[in-house]
Amino acid sequence: MRTANTLNFDLHNHTNASDGTLSAQALVALAYKNGCDALALTDHDTVMNVASAQVAASDCGLKFIAGVEISVSWVAHGDIDSASKTIHVVGLNIDPTNKMLLDGLASVRGGRIARGREMSRLLVEAGVPDIFEEAFLLAENKDMLSRTHFARALVARGVVKDISAAFKRYLSEGNPGYIAHQWSSLPDAMRWIMAAGGVAVIAHPGRYRLDSVGLKTLFSEFKALGGQSIEVVTGSHSPDEYAPFASRCKEFGFYASRGADFHGYADTPVEPGQLPSLADVDSDLKPVWSLFH
Ligand code: AMP
Ligand code: MN
Ligand code: MN
Ligand code: MN
Repeated sequence: MRTANTLNFDLHNHTNASDGTLSAQALVALAYKNGCDALALTDHDTVMNVASAQVAASDCGLKFIAGVEISVSWVAHGDIDSASKTIHVVGLNIDPTNKMLLDGLASVRGGRIARGREMSRLLVEAGVPDIFEEAFLLAENKDMLSRTHFARALVARGVVKDISAAFKRYLSEGNPGYIAHQWSSLPDAMRWIMAAGGVAVIAHPGRYRLDSVGLKTLFSEFKALGGQSIEVVTGSHSPDEYAPFASRCKEFGFYASRGADFHGYADTPVEPGQLPSLADVDSDLKPVWSLFH
């Protein structure tokens, strides 16, 4: 039976407006080729490529959902004395021209270049000769210079064998090239998404190394702020995480989302449209796209 939660909606993907490698047109062509029933573009902290992806999707008759993935520094219980944790909140079905959203995203983007300079300084201290220019060159949208561009530069220079090793050795928290950064607050990110008429989704909740108390706190605060959905089936979860997050999704009364978190052929294990359907994981999940009209 073909029910809503068997549909091949892929609602988390990147392009070269952030840390993906494909253009908007190439991403849309790939999603179309892979048989997606709908595609969302969710670049980090920018909607720069949304309009061109929308045109490309309409040209080939693919349903398109405008989105964004906002970087958030989350402090549990709003406790400013405790350390923040970086989490990602996806906004789906947003109006990409909403001024409050655009101003908010611009404020989150500021500071990435200075952060990049600091990252290369830390890498120099760790024995990697200055790599800023190489990373900067790889960022097609300079505002969105990201750790991913540093990872690609480290691979290109032969310092590490692949992206994953670059994060493991240098760029993830606790490693020599990592620098803490202040992103948006959770309440602000939620306000921007909702002001733009969007649905807020917690991206890849399995990635934050939160225990069950931490997850419960995050989900409760997110829900109290108007959050409606979490990603269950994502390229950023391992398959053994799908079922536990399906259970939590239902427990909290959230809608479930699904998306590859595709960044490019060399970087991401799964292309748009290739993940199991929500129904394959749990036939009782309510798909987030049932909220889109
Ligand atoms: P940034 O926003 O500059 O801190 O970069 C975050 C991005 O780095 C994420 O959106 C992922 O694309 C990428 N990333 C983070 N951790 C890893 C990892 N362990 N392996 C591969 N990519 C990662
Ligand atoms: Mn990314
Ligand atoms: Mn993310
Ligand atoms: Mn992503």
